[in-house]
Amino acid sequence: MEFLQGRALNNAIGNLNIQGAYADALSKLGHELEDIVEQEKDAALGNGGLGRLASCFLDSMATLNLPAWGYGLRYRYGLFKQRITKEGQEEIAEDWLEKFSPWVVVRHGVVFPVRFFGHVQVNPDGSRKWVGGEIVQALAYDVPIPGYKTKNTISLRLWEARASAEDFNLFQFNDGQYESAAQLHTRAQQICAVLYPGDATEEGKLLRLKQQLFVCSASLQDIILRFKERRTGKGSGKWSEFPSKVAVQLNDTHPTLAIPELMTIAYTNHTVLPEALEKWSQTVMWKLLLRHMEIIEEIDKRFIALISSSWTDLESMLPSMCILDNDPKKPVVRMANLCVVSSHTFQNKTNGITPPRWLRFCSPELSNIITKWLKTDQWFTKLDQLVGLRKFADNADFQTEWASAKMANKQPLAWYILQVTGVSIDSSSLFDIQVNRIHEYKRQLLNILGAVYRYKKLKEMSPEERKNTTPRTVMVGRKAFATYTNAKRIVKLVNDVGAVVNSDPEVNNYLKVVFVPNYNVSVAEMLIPGSELSQHISTAGMEASGTSSMKFALNGCLIIGTLDGANVEIREEIGDENFFLFGATADDSPRLRKDRENGLFKPDPRFEEAKKFIRSGAFGSYDYNPLLDSMEGNTGYGRGDYFLVGHDFSSYLDAQKRVDEAYK
Ligand SMILES: *Cc1c(COP(=O)(O)O)cnc(C)c1O
Repeated sequence: MEFLQGRALNNAIGNLNIQGAYADALSKLGHELEDIVEQEKDAALGNGGLGRLASCFLDSMATLNLPAWGYGLRYRYGLFKQRITKEGQEEIAEDWLEKFSPWVVVRHGVVFPVRFFGHVQVNPDGSRKWVGGEIVQALAYDVPIPGYKTKNTISLRLWEARASAEDFNLFQFNDGQYESAAQLHTRAQQICAVLYPGDATEEGKLLRLKQQLFVCSASLQDIILRFKERRTGKGSGKWSEFPSKVAVQLNDTHPTLAIPELMTIAYTNHTVLPEALEKWSQTVMWKLLLRHMEIIEEIDKRFIALISSSWTDLESMLPSMCILDNDPKKPVVRMANLCVVSSHTFQNKTNGITPPRWLRFCSPELSNIITKWLKTDQWFTKLDQLVGLRKFADNADFQTEWASAKMANKQPLAWYILQVTGVSIDSSSLFDIQVNRIHEYKRQLLNILGAVYRYKKLKEMSPEERKNTTPRTVMVGRKAFATYTNAKRIVKLVNDVGAVVNSDPEVNNYLKVVFVPNYNVSVAEMLIPGSELSQHISTAGMEASGTSSMKFALNGCLIIGTLDGANVEIREEIGDENFFLFGATADDSPRLRKDRENGLFKPDPRFEEAKKFIRSGAFGSYDYNPLLDSMEGNTGYGRGDYFLVGHDFSSYLDAQKRVDEAYK
C-alpha cells in the first residue's frame, strides 16, 4: 500500500547507463540535466522506511530480472510537505500530480469493480454470495521500474478510484440536487485522496479500511485476469496451476484483506512490537466487509480446531494466537495473526536498500573511485565485493581520491542548505547528520542537548582554545507526525537552537545547527553522500531496524550509535573502529528505569547544565518545560526519562569527544 518512490528520471537514465549521452542531448537543446531533474516532484506515496523498502524491493526485483508487479494506490496527496516557520513545523498538502507526470501512464482498458457494504445472499445450494452495496471502479496507472543494466522493466501499478457514469444521477442534477446527484463520485474521490487519512474518527477508520480493500480487490482481480488470459494450449491454465504461476507477497499487514479475497498468499512481517501490529475493530469490519468477516471467522474457527486436535500442547496459547480477539469491550481482528495463520509462508524483513540509487546515482564520484580501484563495476549488484577496498585503506592516493569525492559531495550539500535555510555552512567542518523519524525513542533530544552543551562550552572558551576544537555542522531532518506534540516541540527546539548558535559570531565558525526541512527521497540523496558522521542513537531495545544507517555506511559515513536495531549488524560489517558506540544495552534498560523510579539515578552534571541552559531562555521564550520535564522525575512511558537520555548523556558526550579526535 505504500511506495516511497522519489524521483524517476535520474534512476531511469542511470539504470540504462546513458547519463552522459542524455545530458549531452539535453544540452544541445539548451537545457542542463540538473535543471530538468529538479522539475520532477517526488512521488511520496509512503511514510518512511516501510514504503522506501517497498520501492527498493521493486528496483532490485527489476535488476534481478524477476517478472514482478508492485501494487498500490494513486494517492492524490502523498506524504505532506513540511514547512518550517517561527512556530515550528507546518504541514501542507503536496500535489505531486499538479504538473503532468510522464512516469505515470494511465491504462484506460484496465478497470475493475470493487464492492463495499452490501449484504450476503444465501443460495438454495447453501453457497453464499456478496451482493448490493456500492461499487467503485478501480482504474490502473503504471509507473515503469527499470532494472540496472538489464532489459527488464517491471511496473508499479497504482489504482485510482472512480464512480461510473451510471452512478451520476442526471435526474437529480437537473432537479438542482447537485450534491446528491454526484454523491458516489464524491465518495469514490475520497478513497485515493490522501495517504493515511487520520483515523481518530469512525469515518477515518472506515475510509482507511476502504483503501485497503480497494487495493487488494483490484490487484487480485488484475492478477487473476492475467492468469486467465495467459492460458494457452491444452491442460495449461488449470486453477490447480495458479499457485505455481503466481506468488502474492504481502508487504506488512496493510494488504491483509487479500487473504479473505483469495487465500493463497505469502506474508512479510516487519516488526513484532505490539503497538505496531495492526488491529481492526470487528464492528467497523462487519459494517463494510460483511462477507470478508464471515470468511475470517471461518478461518479462525478452523485454526482453533486444528490446534485443539493436533497441537494440544499449544492450546493454552490460543487466546493470543487466534485471529479474532472477542474482548466484549473492544472486539478486534488481529491482522498479523490472520496473515501468519493463512499464509503458505511468512518471513521477516525489516531492512534493505538498493545500491544503484543509494550509491551509484547519488554519488557518482565515489562510485567511480570504487570502480576504478576494484577494476570492476560488478559491486553494484554484488555488494560483498566492496571488501576488496580494504587493502587500499592505507594507500595515500586512494585516501586523497576518497577525500576529494567526499568534498565534491559536501559542497553541493552546503549550497543546498544555504538555498533552503539561508544558513551558510563550512564545507570543511564535520558534517554530522540525524534523519530518523522525529520520535522521543529515536532521541533527537540527546543530539540537541549535546549540541547545546557543546555551544555552552564553546562560549566559555577563549578564542585560542576554540581554535583547537573540531568545527562541526549538526544537521537534523525529518517530518514529525502531525499530531505528535512532543515531536513537534523537538523540531522547534532544533530550529531555535540553530537560530541562536548560527548567528553568534563568537562561536559560529566552530558550530552550526541546522534543521533540514521537508526530508524526502531527493533530500536524502543530497544529504547522505555529503555525510561524515550519522547519528543512530535510539534507546537500546526500541528500534525495529532502521534503514538509513545502511545508506550512510554505503557512502563512507561513520556512525555514532547504541546497540540497537540494524546498528548491531552494521557494526559487525564495518568494524567497531568505524562505529562510535555508547549507551545502555537493551538488557540494562529495565533495571535503569527501576533505579530511576527508586530515586537512585545520579545525573551527570553536564546533563543538568544543558537542560538548565535551555530553561534559562537562552534559545527564546517558547515554553520547553514540558519537553525537558519528560526527562525528570519518576519513570513511566513519556515521563521520568523513560528513554534514558539522562543515563546515556555522559557516554554520548564521551563518544562525541572520540569523534572530534578521530576527525582531526
Ligand atoms: C531511507 C528513507 C527512510 C527510512 O529511513 P529509516 O532510517 O529506516 O527511518 C525514510 N524516508 C526517506 C526519504 C528515506 O530515504
